[in-house]
Amino acid sequence: MDSRLITQYSDVLRLKKGTWKGRAREQALNWLSLIADERYLSKPRIQFLYIHHLFTDEEQKLEALLQQLSKGHTFISYSQAVDKILSGTIDKPYIVFSSDDGFKNNLKAAELLNRYDAKACFFINPGIIGETDFNRIEKYCTETLRFPPVGFLNWKDVAQLQKWGHEIGSHTMMHMNIAEAGVQEINDDLGQTIDVLNEKCGVAKHFAFPYGRFAHFSSIGRKAVFEAGFTSCATAERGCHINPEASLSNTELCIRRDHTVLGWDIRHIMYFLVNNAKKASINNNLYPADIK
Ligand SMILES: [Zn+2]
Repeated sequence: MDSRLITQYSDVLRLKKGTWKGRAREQALNWLSLIADERYLSKPRIQFLYIHHLFTDEEQKLEALLQQLSKGHTFISYSQAVDKILSGTIDKPYIVFSSDDGFKNNLKAAELLNRYDAKACFFINPGIIGETDFNRIEKYCTETLRFPPVGFLNWKDVAQLQKWGHEIGSHTMMHMNIAEAGVQEINDDLGQTIDVLNEKCGVAKHFAFPYGRFAHFSSIGRKAVFEAGFTSCATAERGCHINPEASLSNTELCIRRDHTVLGWDIRHIMYFLVNNAKKASINNNLYPADIK
């Protein structure tokens, strides 16, 4: 592997440099996590968690998180989670993992998830899979992901993930900001990713739009996702899912996922989960009015 590629989360932090905002957030979370009432975690619900990376100095954190979550939650696959929400059969606390952007170190994350029989969905960008040219990686990471240069999975790695029972989803060809793209561009891109994934992986059911906040999506994009043939669509908006009161179709379901950085303090991650459980609402299953 190219030695210029980042392998430690501490290097990401060093390159990003701490801001006073970041430190204030840490402090606030320290206090909030002290008063988080973990009894809320016994509420029947589905909590999606997603990561981007598992750098070597984060591996122990993932193990510790899996250990802690496995006590009160059942790990289910992404497809099982979607089915459970749509059929209104959420009967206990569930956790489902996913990962975006297809970094090479996702293989290690999958290995650790395997030990807990937790099957994740890896949302990849086929346009960067297998890229080994440092300059192209650096340009893509800097300009598109706003991240230091990291290695990416290749198609052999993707096949390995599938062999272990994990799912592969689309995150557009090259991490497109859908809110800024034209309808033709979106249709072409989604049509291409579903073709590539069907060819390479044999299946492509799930979609997660890049950048993940509602501001990065649109009703045009949402229509295009289902027209291309995907059966689910995910955001990176925080929240958990409870059973819908009325019937809910897959095109109506807005999947919320909590961004999780394993380099964070685990108590902070748990605080977000408690907060989501406390605020669980049937409205979380739906898109905001401007993306309907
Ligand atoms: Zn992404």
